[in-house]
Formats: sequence, C-alpha cells, structure tokens
Amino acid sequence: MAGRGDNGPAIGIDLGTTYSCVAVWQQNRAEIIADDQGNRTTPSCVAFTGTQRFIGTEAKNQMVMNPTNTVFDVKRLIGRRFSDPSVQNDMQLWPFKVIVGTGDKPMIIVQYKGQEKQFGAEEITSMILVKLREIAESYLGCAVTDAVITVPAYFTDCQREATKNAGVIAGLDVMRLINEPTAAAIGYGLEKRSNTEKNVLIFDLGGGTFDVSVLTIDKGIFEVKATAGDAHLGGEDFDNRMVSHVVEELKRKHHKDISGNPKKLRKLKVACERAKRILSSTNNATIEIDNLFEDTDFSLTITRDSFEELNMDLFAKCVEAVKKCLKDAKMDKSNIHEVVLVGGSTRIPRVQQLLQEFFNGKELCKSINPDEAVAYGAAAQAAMVRGEGNEKLHGMLLLDVAPLSIGLEVGGGNMNVLIPRNTVIPAKKNRVVSTISSKPRASIKVYEGERSKTKDNNLLGRFELTSIPVEINVCFDIDADGILDLSVSDKNNGKNIKVVRDKNRLSEEEIKEMVRRAKKYNEEDEEDKRKIEAKNELENYAFKVKSVIKKMEGMIERTVGWLDDNQGAEAGEFEDKMDELKRICFKLITEMQ
Ligand code: AMP
Repeated sequence: MAGRGDNGPAIGIDLGTTYSCVAVWQQNRAEIIADDQGNRTTPSCVAFTGTQRFIGTEAKNQMVMNPTNTVFDVKRLIGRRFSDPSVQNDMQLWPFKVIVGTGDKPMIIVQYKGQEKQFGAEEITSMILVKLREIAESYLGCAVTDAVITVPAYFTDCQREATKNAGVIAGLDVMRLINEPTAAAIGYGLEKRSNTEKNVLIFDLGGGTFDVSVLTIDKGIFEVKATAGDAHLGGEDFDNRMVSHVVEELKRKHHKDISGNPKKLRKLKVACERAKRILSSTNNATIEIDNLFEDTDFSLTITRDSFEELNMDLFAKCVEAVKKCLKDAKMDKSNIHEVVLVGGSTRIPRVQQLLQEFFNGKELCKSINPDEAVAYGAAAQAAMVRGEGNEKLHGMLLLDVAPLSIGLEVGGGNMNVLIPRNTVIPAKKNRVVSTISSKPRASIKVYEGERSKTKDNNLLGRFELTSIPVEINVCFDIDADGILDLSVSDKNNGKNIKVVRDKNRLSEEEIKEMVRRAKKYNEEDEEDKRKIEAKNELENYAFKVKSVIKKMEGMIERTVGWLDDNQGAEAGEFEDKMDELKRICFKLITEMQ
C-alpha cells in the first residue's frame, strides 16, 4: 500500500493555532482523516479537570465551564520568550495562567487532579500531536510514528526547533518540518496540474499566523521564490478586537466591567468568533450571551462594516506583506498567474476584496479547501520523503527558503547579514570573520531577523573568543526544516570554538524528562478512560438490573392478583400461567446478561 513503511503509514499534520488537521497519502491522493465524530479538523486545545485531561473537541466543548484550565493558542507561545512583547500582550487575553520559567521560558500553569501543574508550550503541543496521531491510528488501524509537521513560513529558528521537540515528546519521528504555504502550494499543484510554468501566490491567513509565499510551479518542481508574513496575525486577533469592542460597549452603556472575569470573557470570545463567521456571509450578526451578568442575558448586533473597521489596520498589514513578498521574489503583481487562498480567515469578504483590488480585480483561487490544503500537502510531502507514493508524486521536488536573514553583531549593535532571507534551504555557508579588538576577550553573537539593530532581532547563539586578533571560520548549516546548526572554528589552528545556544531552548535532558512525563500522562489517560468506562458499565448494569427487577415485581404482582381472583381455575390454566411466568422471567434474565 502506498505510504506504508516499517513504522506504518507516514502522516501529514497541519498544526494550527486554533485548529489542526491530519492527513495520509493513500490511493493516489491525500485523505483528510476525520475523528470518530466525523470532524475533519481538531481544536488545538487541551483541558485539565479535577479527574481528567481532554484534548481537541472535548477540551473546546468544556472551555466556557473551565476557562482557567483550558489551554489554547499555544502556537503563540511555542519557541518564544516570556518577556517577548507579544507573549506579554497575549497573556492579558488568556484565561489560563502563564509564568516565567528558567531561561525566560514561559510556563503554563493549570490545576490537574487537584494539583498545580506546569507545562512548557512544547508539552501542550505534544498532547495535541498525540491526539492527531490517535485519530490517524484509529482510522488506519495500525500504529503510526512518522510524520511531516507544518509550521508557519515565518516561524523563527527557535519556534521550529520547539515544534520539532514537541513531535519528539509526542513519540513521533518528525521526518520533516515544512512551511504551511509551501504545503498548501503542493496541495494546489497536485490538484491543478499544468504543463506550463506558473507563478503562484499563496495567501495563508489562519487562526494565529499569516504567511504569504510566492512560488514557481513547473512540472512538479515547487520553487519558493520568497516568503513574508507575521507569525502573530490571524483570526484570533480579529476575535480579540471584537471582544475589546464589546467590553468597552458594556462599560459605556451598562457600566459593567467584565475585563477581569475569565469565564465571562471566554463566553464573549466564543460568541464573537461565531459572530465573525456569520459576518462572512451576512451583513449583521448578533452576539448573544445568556446570564452575562446577574442573570441578565446580553445581546448586541454588530455589522460587517463595524467588524471591518475594527480590523482594518490588520487587514491592511496583510496586503503590505504581499507587496514585500513580491518585491523579494523580484516579481510584479502582473506576473502572478494564480492567487490561492488558504486558512479559515481568508473567508472574510473584506480580506478577499482588498487582495483582489491589489491584484487589479484578478479572480482569486478559492477552489481548494482553505482548512485542509495544508494537511493535504503535508501528507503528500510525507509520502515523498519516504520515497513512496505513485507516479503523481514521482519527480516532485520542493525548493523552499529560509524566511529570515542570519548575521553577526558588529560594532554599535549593528546586524551584519551573512545569509540573506529567502536563501534556498538546505543551505550550508562558511564565512571567514576577522575580529580586531582591543579587548583580550570578545563575545560574538549570531542573530536572525531583518532589523538593522541586533537588539530588534532574535539571538540564536554566541561564542567567546579568547585570543584576539583572530580569524574564525563560521559555518551556518540550515537544514531542510529551516533549523540552524552553528559551528565555529579558529581558522589558524582548526580548533572548534564552543557555541552557546540561546537559553530558551530545551536541553536533551529536558526533552527526555518531558518524554517521560508525556508517557506518564498518556498512561494516566488510558487508566482514566478505563476507569470511566468501567464505572459507566457498572452504572448501566445496575440500572438495567433495577429495571428488570421492577418488571419482575410487576409480573409477580399480576400473577398473585390472578391467583387471588382465580382460586378455582383448572390445572391446565395454572400450568399455562406457570409457563408464562417462567418464560417472561427467563427473557428478563437473559436481557440482563
Ligand atoms: P485555520 O487555522 O486555517 O484553521 O483558521 C482558523 C481561523 O479561521 C479561526 O480564527 C476561525 O475563526 C477562522 N474562520 C473560519 N471560518 C471563518 C469564516 N467563515 N469567516 C471568518 N473567519 C473564519
């Protein structure tokens, strides 16, 4: 069977901010795998209660009841520092608690089975991955370990590494990380085969991230020309704008402040997301919440115009990224043959309108499923990496790029770019750097990012030089996942110089410990599931027995009544009555088994 190896079929996972999706390559196409309820996407949500852990749909369903222990949006935390301004901002809106851990790592705090527990973003992500794996295993009927996981094209080195670690903690063999818009382009390219070269722009606006990529697709060769975006822009932000608007309206009109109440804010957020979706197809939507304050129901009508006004600057940001991406790809908008919409938030009419206007009225491609295209491409890539799949995948080649420039810090905290953004990956580059300093020691720092001052970019690692002046060889090795390996040696004697990586990363020991904990939690889940099933079974049986006894009592009463009324009946009549009683009792007892 196509896609099957020693480790079972390889799966493709679209790990989204709000929803995730899993697919497998089978019989010439990617099959999106639905869970046992028929859901083709799974909420990226994990909940903890006094007795149980819930992942996915079950977690989302109980969110309003248990907001402080229901974790979502973890993709906005993974690979980021606690002090990151975006984390500080998001924390204000999350009902769950996040604290600072060692190395400025954000840690999520929940109450689970009566105890306070701390989890890193990788651990929560790994729980979502385990759920997706289970959905795949139950559909395929066999164990699965190999996976391709997608990440936003604009994810940093640290976010990529942390996502890969989440896969390891989930017990997955992460064969490859691929960029979400690139995966969507594969999905598009496989569905819309063409014999001529096409320039395609993928516009991917999801729940939490926004990516835009320009690719050239030519007979199965997918070459990413440039990528741009914002790893913190998506549907969640549009929801939050609406939430803030309603909170202000409540203060203004009703003199009620719910901003400090996680349960009420959660209810409002759910209602706002629903209203936002409705506004994609109608001009008005009503935000309705039962018992929002003091047993009073709340209702507010919001128009599509006011929703658009609340988010106009964010929508405009998307178009700016498109411009930047085209510029980087050295293409004019007239060179783009197809603009492909991916991600649930591209259903917003104003977003479509702005994009269409930018492309001078060009028809946008909406024919691929925006929620499933990324998982589709990931499944195809999984089969390709395995060297499996059929003629549809043979000869397919993916040439992706690094989204951010990499460079060294030079005098005055300036960034000296050594590997420009949009360099094709994997990439290995050696650079000889001469350092002349009056100090006997110097610390050389490596950053990624586009800003001219290193303080505005991400620190990837640093190394110390003890004898100066010196000529050093710096080797940047960016693998196919977009993750950097950095090695430094003294050019004169060839000796390696130790590189200290950013503290926010997990050490091997920490990963091992998380793998151990994940196993423990999975075993506990199994045990909890068994316990609940056994309890339900016993309860059902006890009720069944009770109902059988009731029916028997009724039968006995009717028989005794008949005896009272028929003392003088014939032997045959008593015998018939006896047979009837025995037959019915036997039937009831059999029913109980
Ligand atoms: P994704 O990460 O691609 O699954 O996108 C999920 C995001 O799309 C969430 O923020 C949803 O609220 C949003 N979304 C889904 N359907 C719609 C719709 N009809 N209108 C506006 N936003 C939507």
